[in-house]
Amino acid sequence: MAGTLYLCATPIGNLEDVTLRVLRVLREVDIIVAEDTRRTAVLLRRYGIEPRFGPSLYEGAERERVPLILRELKVGKDVALVSDAGTPLISDPGYPLVRACIEAGVRVVPVPGPAAFLAALVASGLPTDSFVFLGTLPRKRGAKREVLEGLIGEGRTAVMYESPHRLGEALELMEDLYPRRPLVLARELTKAHEEFIRGTVAEVRAEVERRGGVKGEVVLVLGGDPGPAAPPDIGLLRDLYGLLRAKGRDEREALREMARLLGIPKGRLSSLLREPGA
Ligand code: SAM
Repeated sequence: MAGTLYLCATPIGNLEDVTLRVLRVLREVDIIVAEDTRRTAVLLRRYGIEPRFGPSLYEGAERERVPLILRELKVGKDVALVSDAGTPLISDPGYPLVRACIEAGVRVVPVPGPAAFLAALVASGLPTDSFVFLGTLPRKRGAKREVLEGLIGEGRTAVMYESPHRLGEALELMEDLYPRRPLVLARELTKAHEEFIRGTVAEVRAEVERRGGVKGEVVLVLGGDPGPAAPPDIGLLRDLYGLLRAKGRDEREALREMARLLGIPKGRLSSLLREPGA
């Protein structure tokens, strides 16, 4: 009889965040498939579990490793899949393995536990009744902008992962698109320096810029789009723009300040100001 693939969630920082069932499964399975054995070894050592590692499953190795793991399952070995942190397959390797198991009739059992997106969402203070999870934002600016543009008109809370090195660019794009939407930056969840920076997109960006960036792991939780606001009074927009220019702001600065004050994206302001007869 074929073995079982257990999908085991592991801590996202604090090693106490592991379920009794995950520890039992890790003790009982024949093979532990880790993303990085060095990371998983720390957890196993802490709980006195003997490391019985099979082939590692990291990004880029899945095509080659999945058949090897499947072969073990087919001969009756039980396998636990763990990633470096949190739930496997959530912005982590494992999807091709799960598909291959299902297709081969191998039982797949989730053993749930931590996931950074859920921890960030529930403590964000933003609506949790309905949300979208975008995974990790694309690295390239154009693709990132496209994903973030897709959140215009999205009424649900949106949760996404971003690297701290690329955070500045993500916040800049978000401020350009929806400066007044609420945003929560959840940092270093479950760790000693856990922190939530809350505010509008523009406020959170200003705080991150004031600090010269932030360190550690980050989840962004963006409040839903409240829907189209009443159309702005174009005469007032022109007056405000004229006032800011008269005060010495260049075109870019004036638009940025208006976007921050009014919560209207810069691009939209600039086309409104260009409207004939406005
Ligand atoms: N499988 C993981 C999960 O279940 O959340 C996610 C892995 S993904 C490769 C790593 C990303 O998750 C990080 O870049 C960060 O955005 C987020 N993340 C993981 N641990 C975190 C933590 N302790 N605090 C904040 N974000 C975290």
